[in-house]
Amino acid sequence: MLYYSFNDYLKQKFHTRVHRLSLNAGFSCPNRDGALDNKGCIYCNENAFSHFHGETIPSIETQIEKSMTFARERFNAKKFIAYFQNGSNTYASIETLKKTYDIIKKFPDIAGLYISTRPDCVEEEKLNLIKTYTKDYDVWIEYGLQTFHNKTLELINRRHTPEQSISAIKTTAEKGIKVAVHIILGLPGETTYDMLKTGEEISKLPISGIKFHVMHVVKNTALEKMYFQGKIKLLELNEYANILATFINLLRENTVIMRLVSTAKMDTLIAPEWINQKHAVQKAVINKLMELKKNK
Ligand code: SF4
Repeated sequence: MLYYSFNDYLKQKFHTRVHRLSLNAGFSCPNRDGALDNKGCIYCNENAFSHFHGETIPSIETQIEKSMTFARERFNAKKFIAYFQNGSNTYASIETLKKTYDIIKKFPDIAGLYISTRPDCVEEEKLNLIKTYTKDYDVWIEYGLQTFHNKTLELINRRHTPEQSISAIKTTAEKGIKVAVHIILGLPGETTYDMLKTGEEISKLPISGIKFHVMHVVKNTALEKMYFQGKIKLLELNEYANILATFINLLRENTVIMRLVSTAKMDTLIAPEWINQKHAVQKAVINKLMELKKNK
């Protein structure tokens, strides 16, 4: 096996077709609501993430029902993972979080709970709440780390530090909750060496999965302005594939690779267009992984 994909993991765990339901629970983010900042990360356009956005977000129940119907018809899905995706999905009171996560209990075919958040938005009490779901569900928290380099985190206005990420990962794993990390390759100012250094640091931490994202520009972001002012250079497909394969090679073999490349909605994407050529990216990464394996 060249890499351990999320599909491989789901097949081994559930022995049936499992589909992830992307949900918008309407949570904000301290980097948008003024607690830390109100500008957000320089690449963030929240509407570019999900099918469910805008002023009237349907109830979570409705989102689940609609997505389940679609996935059953289209993919013959039998089981589902509730994926709380938009915003920071631990950024609320314990009562609100419990009420929100408990909605999955109404749907017997939901087998997993997947919560995406920032590493500075989890406290002991919240992790203890999330831990209670591990009895009945496959539970993951995905932390948006992006990079381990402080200078880049400052440039992209993340407003959290690598130390906060390390602490969140360790505390979460100690609770028996699986940890995934979200990493961006091709961030402004980062060299191949910088990206691989992030890979080395991550490989030392108790993570179970990793999701890759290539830096791309979407409309209505600060990054869009930087791009049109010629201040940033984006990765080419082959550059990305080479760096990604080398990065994967640094990780422990049982690390679940949850995604090789992000895609973007064509109506919001500015550049690079190749990110939506999923098969071409996959092929290039696999070729590079094979080459690295041969030379081992
Ligand atoms: S932390 Fe996430 S939701 Fe908040 S501004 Fe950054 S990308 Fe957007």
